[in-house]
Amino acid sequence: MTDTLIVGGGTAGCVLAARLSENPDHTVRLLEAGQLWREPGGFPTELLDATRLPVGADAPWLWRYPVTLADDGVAVAGNIVRGKVIGGSGAVNGSYFVRATGADFAAWSRELGSSKIWSFDSVLPTYCRSERDLDFGDQSWHGAAGPIPVRRSANPAPLSEEFATACAAVGFPGVPDLNAVSASDGVGAVPCNIDDGRRVSTASGYLLPALSRPNLTVQDATTVLRLRFRGTRAVGVDVVRDDRTETLWADHIVLSAGAIESAATLLRSGIGNAEHLRALDIPVVHPAPVGAWFTDHPEVGLEYRLDAPERATVPLEYVLELDDIEIRPYTVAFTPGIQRLGVALMRPQSAGALRLRSADPAIPPVIEHRYLAAEHDRTRLRGAVATASEVLHRMSARARTDPMPGTPKTADGWLHANLATSQHLSGTCRMGQANDERAVVDELCRVHGVAGLSVIDLSVVPVPLSRGPQATTVMIAENVAEFRSRG
Ligand SMILES: Cc1cc2nc3c(=O)[nH]c(=O)nc-3n(C[C@H](O)[C@H](O)[C@H](O)COP(=O)(O)OP(=O)(O)OC[C@H]3O[C@@H](n4cnc5c(N)ncnc54)[C@H](O)[C@@H]3O)c2cc1C
Repeated sequence: MTDTLIVGGGTAGCVLAARLSENPDHTVRLLEAGQLWREPGGFPTELLDATRLPVGADAPWLWRYPVTLADDGVAVAGNIVRGKVIGGSGAVNGSYFVRATGADFAAWSRELGSSKIWSFDSVLPTYCRSERDLDFGDQSWHGAAGPIPVRRSANPAPLSEEFATACAAVGFPGVPDLNAVSASDGVGAVPCNIDDGRRVSTASGYLLPALSRPNLTVQDATTVLRLRFRGTRAVGVDVVRDDRTETLWADHIVLSAGAIESAATLLRSGIGNAEHLRALDIPVVHPAPVGAWFTDHPEVGLEYRLDAPERATVPLEYVLELDDIEIRPYTVAFTPGIQRLGVALMRPQSAGALRLRSADPAIPPVIEHRYLAAEHDRTRLRGAVATASEVLHRMSARARTDPMPGTPKTADGWLHANLATSQHLSGTCRMGQANDERAVVDELCRVHGVAGLSVIDLSVVPVPLSRGPQATTVMIAENVAEFRSRG
């Protein structure tokens, strides 16, 4: 019998499998729907090349979901993707590896009453343990020996340099290290999980070096359909592999399938809103607010042309951080010759919801972001677009997007027309105390009301994070693994 069975070898799952299997007496089985390569050099070039986002229409390593970004009379539809491959979304993403802020952890801790497990002081050593910062590793707030190499562009592309200069001209200070404990608002070089131009996911950083352990089994091309229970104890999972279905049993099951699939798996298994489940003929095991709330970072894109030479580089070399606003001068041209300045709201008040469309695992869930529903979010984004336009004005950029109209009502129509997502969906199984009716898991990610079952990935974060979630997802898995290894 397996001690811990992990569903999903993505950003969090690879960390967890590697850390839990450090104890030779603990058997770990990791199940991943996508493909595994056993050597870092065996990965396809597209996944290793950090200068490209390998998420094109033909990419075979993706989950794809239709979503509704906003709906206030006129629905804004979109599509999102997630990595379906060992390393998960971290194997296909932009390599931006930035920590969440002290204010985020203060808000997170407030959700948990007196617990200090998710305070910034508690998680800082965990962030450090995960990284090998190749620029600032000698500083006390950094790690120099962790599995994930982190570095900033030493020779930025002309576009990034122009952006940084324009930010300085508008009056924003430079921030040498965006992961510094004391980092303030301003413009800085993006810390990236790359080494020698290669994207280093948690698959290559954590899992591959652990593959030879006899107590660790990794099965790829294996999709978990649903959980099995004895009463309200999770005891196994039904999986499909090579068109054959079987049940695997374990002492403890961890869902690390990402914020969409972890929630969908719980719902398919009977943990969720009882009324919704009954409507789909799914027997209710335990009522819980799975998928009832999630958050993500809405982004509006300003397109422009710039007569600066293009150079292959990570998609985002510099970023302007302004508390809850992030302004991103993407270096990749989404349309040839046309650049995009992303303007993202990092602590939106509007919240989304996810629910099953069908009990059939092959049918993707309904995902409604409900962006811009709160007046607060529209106001913040209108202000952010004005700031971004000012920065663009200081660059030698020729705007392609029509300017945002002056009145709030027409400006809101403009926001809808230019709306996109940062692909940072989190919080579908949010963390909170047992008496919190919005909470699905406790402070150690164990599902309330169900024994033998945890969710350990980006699903559990109970507040919007002011920075991209990748580094924090790694930290979450590291932190929970540390607590579990202490017993
Ligand atoms: C295109 C893109 C770009 C991004 N860029 C950045 C960035 O630059 N910086 C940043 O901070 N964040 C970025 N993000 C977000 C970040 O990568 C993710 O939020 C983070 O990696 C989520 O980690 P996770 O462990 O929760 O899920 P994932 O890393 O997605 O892992 C989930 C894993 O579970 C597997 N799985 C799912 N369901 C099943 C099942 N039923 N059975 C078996 N296996 C299953 C999946 O195949 C996957 O491997 C980006 C995301 C995307 C999609």
